[in-house]
Amino acid sequence: MERVIVIGGGIAGMKTALDLNRRGIGVTIIEKENRLGGKVLGWHRLFPTFTPANEVVDTLKAEVASSEIDVRLGTCATALTEHSVTLSDGTVLDCDAVVLCSGFTLFDARIKEEYGYGIYDNVITSADLEEMFNQGRVGLKNGGRPRRIAFLHCVGSRDEKVCQRHCSKVCCVTGVKQAIEMKKLFPEADVFNFYMDIRMFGPGYEELYREAQQSYNIHFIRGRISEASPTIEGRLQIKAEDTLTGRPLKISVDMLVLLIGMRSNDDNASLAESAGLQLAQSGFMAPRDLFLSNVRSNRDGIFYAGTVTAPKSIGEVLNEGAAVADAVTEYLS
Ligand SMILES: Cc1cc2nc3c(=O)[nH]c(=O)nc-3n(C[C@H](O)[C@H](O)[C@H](O)COP(=O)(O)OP(=O)(O)OC[C@H]3O[C@@H](n4cnc5c(N)ncnc54)[C@H](O)[C@@H]3O)c2cc1C
Ligand code: SF4
Repeated sequence: MERVIVIGGGIAGMKTALDLNRRGIGVTIIEKENRLGGKVLGWHRLFPTFTPANEVVDTLKAEVASSEIDVRLGTCATALTEHSVTLSDGTVLDCDAVVLCSGFTLFDARIKEEYGYGIYDNVITSADLEEMFNQGRVGLKNGGRPRRIAFLHCVGSRDEKVCQRHCSKVCCVTGVKQAIEMKKLFPEADVFNFYMDIRMFGPGYEELYREAQQSYNIHFIRGRISEASPTIEGRLQIKAEDTLTGRPLKISVDMLVLLIGMRSNDDNASLAESAGLQLAQSGFMAPRDLFLSNVRSNRDGIFYAGTVTAPKSIGEVLNEGAAVADAVTEYLS
């Protein structure tokens, strides 16, 4: 039986493995964490429908568990060729093809020191907010209810200074979804989203953006916050410029949510070097082309699915899992 190794057990890896296995191909998933699911395990409800994230992850995990897919947890892939994958303990696994589904890395908001993440209380990231939703304890550090909340778009994306020029694609709609969720929890609070551009690329996203304004009275301000600093009353003062009116703006808020970007994994470079793979300028893996071969790498027998090549939504990632299974089957035959 032919065997394909899938590196990464997030939603891309699970969907790819399932679609290959359904075609009678033997599959091994290599996942460095001790559980399958990837980043989606950390999310609460998904845009644009507010579907619980665990519904998606648990469905895929249950299908993997009842299949014949060989799952190796807690082991990292450190090198690959089209016929082998090397693991962190030095083991080399042989195979007939490899699909790299190793995903993305969350931007570390501490790098943007001017926003005070990790320094001031109540400056959190969008990923932290998902965790708070999951734990059912959303609020201020002192247990109080926020009266004014600001969301800041493009933190660690579209930013030359931190070498992340690309748009992370999903943070605009995540910011709209989270602003609505905060307004539902704290109807008395004023919620502001500070953005450079609003990018609502998917079905239902623009509608959600309208709903945020019309039904929830969320304020969208075109401008970027330049800094956040603490006030003596324990709030946060943020300085920004409203770029539509050209006026500088200073407001005090109780909570600042940084919509952090999706950046490429640090080990993409060493994985690429081990196999002669091409990287895009952004550090994500570069597909053979962006049209007819977007799940193929520049090397025959090595394929990609999911956010290892660029930021994507879950729907797009799942479609790629199906597309890559087609491409691998065609290659093996
Ligand atoms: C804050 C935030 C909220 C989001 N909310 C939504 C939403 O509501 N709706 C939506 O559609 N999308 C959402 N997204 C996007 C969504 O998270 C991604 O589309 C999804 O996680 C991509 O899955 P993936 O499998 O490609 O990557 P990942 O989720 O990153 O999974 C990759 C897996 O590979 C493993 N791995 C990495 N390197 C190795 C290695 N060398 N060896 C072995 N294993 C390895 C990792 O441990 C991980 O389990 C959100 C993104 C962010 C940042
Ligand atoms: S999706 Fe929106 S917030 Fe995210 S990087 Fe692109 S423009 Fe900025």
